[in-house]
Amino acid sequence: MVREDGARPYPCCLRSFVFMAPSSSLADRLEHVRASIDAAARNAGRDPASVTLVAVSKFHPASSIQDAIAAGQRVFGENRVQEAAAKFPPLREETPDLRLHLIGGLQTNKARDAVRLADMIESLDRPALADALAHAAETVGRLPDLLIEVNTGDEPQKFGVPREDADAFIRTCRQRFGNKLRGLMCIPPAQEDPTPHFQLLRSMAHEHGLPVLSMGMSADYPVAIAQGATMVRVGTAIFGPRPASP
Ligand SMILES: *Cc1c(COP(=O)(O)O)cnc(C)c1O
Repeated sequence: MVREDGARPYPCCLRSFVFMAPSSSLADRLEHVRASIDAAARNAGRDPASVTLVAVSKFHPASSIQDAIAAGQRVFGENRVQEAAAKFPPLREETPDLRLHLIGGLQTNKARDAVRLADMIESLDRPALADALAHAAETVGRLPDLLIEVNTGDEPQKFGVPREDADAFIRTCRQRFGNKLRGLMCIPPAQEDPTPHFQLLRSMAHEHGLPVLSMGMSADYPVAIAQGATMVRVGTAIFGPRPASP
């Protein structure tokens, strides 16, 4: 995919594959994303069933989530504990096999609510949060699956454990949480080729024997699948542009 003008192909070329016309229905867009996941997995010689689609519904109303549920989607991602707490419990009553992933930066004072609500927390990124989650798990009597978010681009404004601290943090979380620590998550810097970030995350997970790799969003999930993603977090390509934050 080299463009004639010599510009880096990422991510503008991909966008035309990934985004459908805004007039399309949510079910159409979801179907398109599923087909793209299947194609990317097969191209990489992988079983499409090895990739879990997390539909990122942040800022979108419960009615949109219901549309996605009607189209067969079961795994959703939300950034904010409060928003998830307002939207998901009623949806779960109707659809008990819904799964909620919390994917946004998490404050320690939200740990207890997060532990109550989530099936997976993808954004464990510092010792104070590990402490808060362990304590909350004791109080609440359940512990969600956990992913450690790695700041692969070492961007100062980003969540995620810095690269140089990642190995030690992964080891201590492994000891503390055992098999509840399932894997790693990353959000590559917006303007860079994401491939080296995906490769770095994959090699870290491999070194530590962690099975889950959450990487890839609307603009780059096929690339992430080619690099071994087992979970992709796709919002805009399914739900359309996000409304202003509630
Ligand atoms: C919002 C968000 C996504 C989805 O991004 P899109 O570009 O809309 O697909 C994925 N991961 C995280 C952590 C997010 O905050």
